[in-house]
This record gives sequence, structure tokens and C-alpha cells, in this order.
Amino acid sequence: MISPVPALKPSRFIKPTLDTPYHIDYEWWNKAGRDLRVYLKSHLCELHREMYADPSVDDQIDWVDARTADVKRIDGILYQLRVHCSRQPDYITEFTSVVDAVFRVFLVNDNQSLSPHQLGERIGKDPELILKTLSGKMVYKGLRPAGEGGN
Ligand SMILES: [Zn+2]
Repeated sequence: MISPVPALKPSRFIKPTLDTPYHIDYEWWNKAGRDLRVYLKSHLCELHREMYADPSVDDQIDWVDARTADVKRIDGILYQLRVHCSRQPDYITEFTSVVDAVFRVFLVNDNQSLSPHQLGERIGKDPELILKTLSGKMVYKGLRPAGEGGN
């Protein structure tokens, strides 16, 4: 009698599904030492990309959190993305990659977690494709299941 082969990672790995909530794990960015600001810039509209092309432009703007009503300072890039760039018709198009489109959704919704099902509705892509992209071995741009401890 052959005993069942144990799973490779029996610890706390739960296979994500179409209903698993995802978000941007900013810890991942911190730990990886990647430059979030450079990536943020790539989501700006043409006008603001030009404005922030000058590295000396480093502004912080007061932002009122819609859920808690707390005022917090956010990067000017994030601010412009929320109030301007995300409202341009080419913010998310059919040509935007899955990873970029998902990231753009979370930038604007204050990083409230969404499942591949919900993301599919927002970005107009197949939820299965989104799940496949996000649940692979690679973590793309810090996109991972919400509530999963970083490691
Ligand atoms: Zn803009």
C-alpha cells in the first residue's frame, strides 16, 4: 500500500479561486526594494507623465480616505492617477496587460480587495485568465491574495 504523496507545501498554501480576494501587497514592494514610484509613473496619462518626468517633482498631497474619513498624505503621482489619469478613456483598454489593468484598478479604488470575478467585470477580461496570471509562482507587481501573510 503506497501512502499518498504529501503536498509540496502543506503549510498554509490555499489554492486561489475565482472568488479569492486580491490586492496590492505594498510590503512586497518594500521587501523587494523595487521602485514603486517608477512603476506608478508608467500608469500616468501622457500629460502627467511629462510633468513627472522631472525627478525633482516630488509632491505629497492630502487625501481623504473615503472609508475612514482620515486625511493622509499620498504621493502626488497617486493623487493625479486617481483624480485625472484614471478618468481618461485610455486608462484601461483591451491592449492593457492583465497585470497592469488589475494594478490600475487597485490604485484607484484605494486597494480594496477584489476577486478575479470582480476584476474581470472591471477590466473586461476573462476571470480565468486573471486567476491564471495572478496565481502563478511569480508574484507580479505585488499582486497577491489579500490577508495572506508575506514571506
Ligand atoms: Zn493625468
